[in-house]
Amino acid sequence: MSIFEKLESEVRSYSRGWPVVFDRALGSRLYAEDGKPYLDFFAGAGALNYGHNNPVLKQALLDYIARDGVTHSLDMFTVAKRDMLETLQEKILQPRELDYKVIFPGPGGANAVEAALKLARKVTGKESVINFTNAFHGMTLGALSVTGNSMKRSGAGIPLVHATPMPYDQYFDGVYPDFLYFERLLDDSGSGLNEPAAVIVETVQGEGGINAAGIEWLRGLSDLCQRHDILLIVDDVQMGCGRTGPFFSFEDAGIKPDMVCLSKSISGYGLPLALTLIKPELDVWEPGEHNGTFRGINPAFVTAAEALRTYWSDDELEKSTRAKGERVGAALEGIAEAYDGGIIAKGRGLARGLEFASGEVAGKVCAAAFDRGLLMETSGPDSEVAKLLPPLTLSESEVDEGLEIIDASVKAVLGK
Ligand code: PLP
Repeated sequence: MSIFEKLESEVRSYSRGWPVVFDRALGSRLYAEDGKPYLDFFAGAGALNYGHNNPVLKQALLDYIARDGVTHSLDMFTVAKRDMLETLQEKILQPRELDYKVIFPGPGGANAVEAALKLARKVTGKESVINFTNAFHGMTLGALSVTGNSMKRSGAGIPLVHATPMPYDQYFDGVYPDFLYFERLLDDSGSGLNEPAAVIVETVQGEGGINAAGIEWLRGLSDLCQRHDILLIVDDVQMGCGRTGPFFSFEDAGIKPDMVCLSKSISGYGLPLALTLIKPELDVWEPGEHNGTFRGINPAFVTAAEALRTYWSDDELEKSTRAKGERVGAALEGIAEAYDGGIIAKGRGLARGLEFASGEVAGKVCAAAFDRGLLMETSGPDSEVAKLLPPLTLSESEVDEGLEIIDASVKAVLGK
């Protein structure tokens, strides 16, 4: 029995589907300790949009460590944090005419979500939050309360309250007009719906099964929130930092959320970092009212600033992500068509998925892909979607290689 099986909790999950010991990683590939390469269409669950050990970011990190730059600083002022904030302002916020202040909520995505929910409640004095069917926002109690998946929710061990789920886009396959139910409940004083402080939404639900909300739906949601004086929180933890093409996944909809949660690829290097962006008028915190030891991990600031400078000074990455996304999307449509509706191709940008009849089939396809040297995980309420989340920086030939493996894996499982 390995030390992992002996000592590590049964809660571990990824290592069950990929039972090898990884050692090195570069670009779009991870290498097991026996040297076997794996093409990575998982990318740290979206934390590695710029690939593993990206050489530009690595050099910035090595230089910073070599000069004994501060590593840990809570929320003290540091040179690295100043550079990160200035770069965020210059490369991301100003060009998009977004006026946000930045909360450093703690190291992970769930921290960014907790800070947004807490602040929304403090600002509005209301406790209720609207979330969506199949949403995923993290595993802490507040984030779980706005998460859909019943298995994940049951882990809480206490009632998860103060959140009301509404149907996400296409939940009824287009049978009902968007927001019919939601707006009727808001307008009806007899509906029993508590007045919400905020709505929290993912523009593309990653863990929920690669469900991409339509641009019109997102605009409609933003308008509805404005009409009813509800704060709009976009959780861009997984779909932000260019995953769907633009830096923020909501840019194509032309909306300006009141709060935005970022994590995963914001450090660019797989180092822990999260941000909650808030409109300045919402910044009603007392000093220290929201807190945490790991809110100033300076190596993450260094790689974050370098990633923003390297990839967001022009629109090259955005364009290439859109183009590669279209290509992957078309190839997945081709695979789906070959199975006469038994498979559905989904997604936007480089967040893509193939929905199968069951979680069992999707799991077998991912296992077949692993045997062929490709890492790809499942998502969706029953794990029925094989999810493709490659580094945005993968090469054209790596796109082809991955698609060929996926095609072969589907054929191996379903025949044809
Ligand atoms: N929000 C979204 C949309 C996510 O996809 C995730 C993680 O997958 C989280 C929040 C939670 O992030 P973390 O696992 O870093 O707490």
